Amino acid sequence: MPAAASAQMAPAPFQNPSRVGRTAGGLASLLESIRQRLDVDFATLRLIQGDQLVLAGSAGAPSPALENESRFSSRALIAPLVVPDTALDARFRDRTTIRFYAGIPLVTASGRTVGLLSLFDRSPRPLQLAARLAVLAANAMRSVEEAPSQERLIATLKGQLADQARLIHEQAAALDHSRLIFERAAATARIGVWECDLATEELTWTDGVYDLFELPRGSSIDRATTLLCYAPTSRALLEKLRTQAVTQGIGFTLDAEITTAKGNRRWMRLTTSVETENGVATRLFGMKQDITEEKILADRTRYLAEFDVMTGLANRSRFQSRLADQTQAIGALLLVDLDGFKSINDTFGHALGDECLKETALRLEAVGIEAELVARIGGDEFAVLLGPQTDYTAAEHLAGQIVEILGRPVTRGDQVLQLGASVGIALAMPEASPDQLFKQADTALYAAKAAGRKTFRLFSPAER
Ligand code: GH3
Ligand code: MG
Repeated sequence: MPAAASAQMAPAPFQNPSRVGRTAGGLASLLESIRQRLDVDFATLRLIQGDQLVLAGSAGAPSPALENESRFSSRALIAPLVVPDTALDARFRDRTTIRFYAGIPLVTASGRTVGLLSLFDRSPRPLQLAARLAVLAANAMRSVEEAPSQERLIATLKGQLADQARLIHEQAAALDHSRLIFERAAATARIGVWECDLATEELTWTDGVYDLFELPRGSSIDRATTLLCYAPTSRALLEKLRTQAVTQGIGFTLDAEITTAKGNRRWMRLTTSVETENGVATRLFGMKQDITEEKILADRTRYLAEFDVMTGLANRSRFQSRLADQTQAIGALLLVDLDGFKSINDTFGHALGDECLKETALRLEAVGIEAELVARIGGDEFAVLLGPQTDYTAAEHLAGQIVEILGRPVTRGDQVLQLGASVGIALAMPEASPDQLFKQADTALYAAKAAGRKTFRLFSPAER
């Protein structure tokens, strides 16, 4: 209902009653039950009947004339009035000990105001409380007749309000119950809910977030100290995304690394939503989930897919993707294959053979430090990719170094193993595909083997 219309309909005697009726005892006990169920300091009811005004209050309401509420009620009678915190409201600041007020007019179906139901608290309270009061008032008025006698009105309201208050109480209990269920489910999924008031930077966490940061549940927290838990890269990313979220009003998701209060490193997935009022961000909220185990598993899976477990070098799959990657040019490819490696296995056993492969990997990495990639692409076959600036002199120089270093003996305990390697080189040409480059290096390797091993060959187009 528009405020102006209801203001006209508000009967004059209500604002300036010619007679103030006695506080109705029955109504006081009803208001007391509403006060308890909505958990506020006190509740009041004003009822108007012709030139009669009935004032009633729960326990805790200032008596006798409830004058404390009149400043609120004169406004609330015109339209519902909710003041979550009087300290933040210029109309009431400094003039009252009341911090929270919610007043809902009792309006009949035809728009006639017959009363006002109010809640008061000496602490700021959430808006939701007012919503519950509004539901209570609206439902109570549903069966109120157009012009009942005072006794009739009181009797109807008593029944209705009591029923509604009971219902609201049950709903609140159901909500508490689902909150409990949510907390339990969240704990199992290692999820916590957080919110941050942007005006005060005040943080609120559910138990799940405290557990994630390994802080005592309910302990006092602030943004600055919480930020210190983040690894520098994650913190920088978080601050950037948060600023964007606040200015643009768009949420985000971030996987961040933290060190908990007990010094454990963890990964968490942070989701952030933005609440805005008139286009201005007022609150950030979302979830934080411990994803440490998933992250370790994913990193391990990615590692296994791209690296050779025995030597730690890139595997064939990673080598092939890099070779085929159009965005990163390649200068040359060197294929390296150990000479007579079967006989090393046959003579010294597979375990020592493995030791030779690991040693080969270390030596290749050492000598190929400038290389784009060093990979193990088969049993005793390795590949070295060189950058786009590589000319044949540089490629041959490296190939010579590889033959020399892999020709040095490998000593394990009192065993001395004599290794050797052959190398095939192919220089990348603009017209050659990655496949062709590989085939050319392979041809050159074959030529090196054919030339007696422990040497290198450069592919020349004549060998095609
Ligand atoms: P060539 O000089 O012509 O290169 O002959 P080769 O004896 O080195 O044999 P080739 O390159 O044809 O075959 C590679 C051998 O490496 C075959 C296999 O016995 C051995 N091998 C392959 N993978 C492994 C491994 O993981 N560990 C060990 N110890 N040996 C392996
Ligand atoms: Mg070999």
